[in-house]
Amino acid sequence: MIAEIPKKWDYETDVLIVGGGTAGLPAAIVVAEAGLKATVLEARGVCGGSFSMVAGGLAIAGTEEQKEAGIEDSADLLYEDMVNICQSDPEVARAFADNQIKAYRILKEEGIKWPGLNENPGHSRIRSFIISGLGKTMAQALENRARRVGAEILFRHRAKRLVRDPETQRILGLEVDVENGEKYFKAKKAVILATGGFGRNPEMVAEYAPEMVKCIPMMPPSHIGDGLKMGLDAGAATKDIGKAVAPAWPICIETHQNNVWAINWGGILVNVHGERFHDESQAEGFYGPMTGVGMKQPGGVYWAVFNEQIINDIRAANPIKVRSVEKSKKYQADTIEELASSAGIDVEGLKKTVTKYDSDVESKKYDTVFGRKYQCGVARPLIKITNPPLYAVKCVTATTSMKGGLKINGKCQVLTNYGEVIPGLYAAGEVSGGLHTRTYLLAIMTSSALTLGIIAGQSVVNLEK
Ligand SMILES: Cc1cc2nc3c(=O)[nH]c(=O)nc-3n(C[C@H](O)[C@H](O)[C@H](O)COP(=O)(O)OP(=O)(O)OC[C@H]3O[C@@H](n4cnc5c(N)ncnc54)[C@H](O)[C@@H]3O)c2cc1C
Repeated sequence: MIAEIPKKWDYETDVLIVGGGTAGLPAAIVVAEAGLKATVLEARGVCGGSFSMVAGGLAIAGTEEQKEAGIEDSADLLYEDMVNICQSDPEVARAFADNQIKAYRILKEEGIKWPGLNENPGHSRIRSFIISGLGKTMAQALENRARRVGAEILFRHRAKRLVRDPETQRILGLEVDVENGEKYFKAKKAVILATGGFGRNPEMVAEYAPEMVKCIPMMPPSHIGDGLKMGLDAGAATKDIGKAVAPAWPICIETHQNNVWAINWGGILVNVHGERFHDESQAEGFYGPMTGVGMKQPGGVYWAVFNEQIINDIRAANPIKVRSVEKSKKYQADTIEELASSAGIDVEGLKKTVTKYDSDVESKKYDTVFGRKYQCGVARPLIKITNPPLYAVKCVTATTSMKGGLKINGKCQVLTNYGEVIPGLYAAGEVSGGLHTRTYLLAIMTSSALTLGIIAGQSVVNLEK
């Protein structure tokens, strides 16, 4: 429910930013740099949100690093990928593509250096910075910049309800849970919702994606849908909400460590019968379609099957990524029969599958069953599995981020079902929808959250002009 206008406001600022994470911190930076008072309300005692936890890539088009590597890329090419592959809302995609370079600049200005570029399936160009292990550093850099330019960050302030003027319908502020009860925060210009998604709210997951309730959520504990609820109560429409809870990585059932790297470097996925069930190269653009089918296998479980060479190849490419495979509970054997038997997979089934796969790789250089041509994306040729020592990790599917939320326009203004703007209300990051309508391109969640935060901040600043 929308809160009534309080008799007395406890606090007043220009712009209230709800959430000090990937989208919220850049929004605060832009607002504060324009000379407005930016106040970030953060439910937890720490900033960064999901940005601190990132595991793979940050996709930015048109960077200096791409130029140095001879890769031609641009905002237009990224826009085309978003619209053609993800079927993104063209207005939101255009705004994202045109502004994402600003996120890159902020991070570079704060001294962030990435170890290199990574090819991700789906993208028409190599444009993803490798960011594994850099999440905390990048989030801290954003927090430092936000504080330096004068933004205020209030920890353990959980926004609960929006306050709206019943006459003008304008959003005026927030009712906020603080240590000693509730406080009313007034925003003279706007409220920006940057609360992340609802992946940690089992009721909401059951409501919007009942088939996903058995997934293991990996996002921060505060991703409980507060922003979505506040927006809905203010009359917002949703976009892509039915597809928001997308399947993510295969994770070890025991340790919850990510095993997608074992697949990306040539491993296969099989069910309890030892049968493969998908093209592991993720030709659709990301791992979700593959792990989504994985969830439908008997018992909702499946096994990553790989070998020592694959572990060594991951290590050589990225010593951080290999850690999650190393920390997984691995069954190890020298023969496929022993491996299947110890891991609890049907022995004859796995033998048949691996024999066929290896023979395809040797004779045809591709897999004739599901059409896998590469280890992942369009790089690195396939390798044979039977090359001991062999490993199997029993996996389930994780969720990492929501791909749908409140409907926004290209200025990040929140819209009603009639396409009208809710005055004074903006949304950015996972709490919003529109970019991942058909599918998701890897490494876009981070860049889109950062960029939509910047756009939301700029839109509020532009109100002044
Ligand atoms: C483990 C993991 C790995 C990932 N790896 C990648 C990757 O490699 N590449 C990629 O592109 N994407 C990746 N993602 C997804 C990406 O990180 C997120 O989609 C993106 O960072 C979300 O940004 P956000 O601003 O929407 O949410 P967040 O960055 O999580 O920020 C939301 C903030 O709002 C706060 N909050 C929530 N409710 C309230 C409230 N009521 N009041 C006040 N504060 C509130 C939260 O505490 C949090 O700090 C990964 C996600 C996870 C979980």
